Amino acid sequence: MQIIDGKKIAIEVKQEIAAKVLSMSKDQQRVPHLAAVIVGEDGAAKTYVESIQRSCKEVGFISSVYKYPEDISERELLEAIDFLNHDDEIDGYIIQLPLPKHISIDKVTEHVDPKKDIDCFHPINYGKLLLGEADFLPATPYGTIELMQRAGIEVAGKHCVVLGRSNIVGKPLAMLLAEKSAKGNATVTICHSHTENLKEICATADILLVAIGKAEMITADYVKKGAVVIDIGIHRVPDVDSPKGYRICGDVKFDEVASKCSAITPVPGGVGSMTMACLLLNTLHARLTTL
Ligand code: NDP
Repeated sequence: MQIIDGKKIAIEVKQEIAAKVLSMSKDQQRVPHLAAVIVGEDGAAKTYVESIQRSCKEVGFISSVYKYPEDISERELLEAIDFLNHDDEIDGYIIQLPLPKHISIDKVTEHVDPKKDIDCFHPINYGKLLLGEADFLPATPYGTIELMQRAGIEVAGKHCVVLGRSNIVGKPLAMLLAEKSAKGNATVTICHSHTENLKEICATADILLVAIGKAEMITADYVKKGAVVIDIGIHRVPDVDSPKGYRICGDVKFDEVASKCSAITPVPGGVGSMTMACLLLNTLHARLTTL
């Protein structure tokens, strides 16, 4: 049984990005610049943005953070986005969620210049993804596909069951797997909270990709013997035996599923590590298209 080491593969991806950035700076080219917009004081959002900054530093990108108070008006935020759209030295940026309730996420998303939309949330980029013409891919599905490819998991012709159909994970992941491309060509089934016979369908998967947001829900009886299991979920659950009082786990009950499958991603150290690496890949791509 193979434990797919997302952490190691993410380091490889970052090293490749860093090598490219080094050669850009040797050629006197401006290195990529990733910006993050954060509104309010959400702790998890701040932690994520800090980890983006650390990752940018690791690969040699410039990073910047634009912080706005919780009571910023929608108009002021849209003006701030205009500024980012027109700044030629910023290649890509993210608008960190959540946004305050008085601000329309749709309006904000649609205001982002699609060429700088490294989260791939803009409807134009989402549409291009469905057409197989994507400039950017949403970071988590991108990371999942890249991880499988680099770990030697063949998806072409396989029955992939994607558990979850959210706009940021399940749906785009299913589309990428089904895409007529070197990294796709799978036969895909999408399951969700209204799926009947969920367990039986999951147990037909050659590759089971789980993004349901339910801690350790997927037990061994959902898994065909010898299947590949990709766990995209991430949860912090109380654990009295841990000095921190909690532990991190996925949507899959790792120990019992691992003994039944041929390969599995751990949590932490699986798909999550790849998400950041792929956000950096999108930023590098945005910069390269301006050359
Ligand atoms: P959402 O809550 O947006 O979507 C969950 C999906 O799972 C929905 O489609 C829902 O169905 C389906 N679902 C929920 N419960 C069940 C159930 N009991 N049976 C079948 N289907 C069910 O979550 P996200 O897609 O945003 O995230 C999924 C997981 O991935 C989370 O654990 C999240 O933390 C993690 N994640 C990890 C990232 C990473 O970098 N590793 C990045 C983003 C997310 P329905 O549509 O019918 O409601």
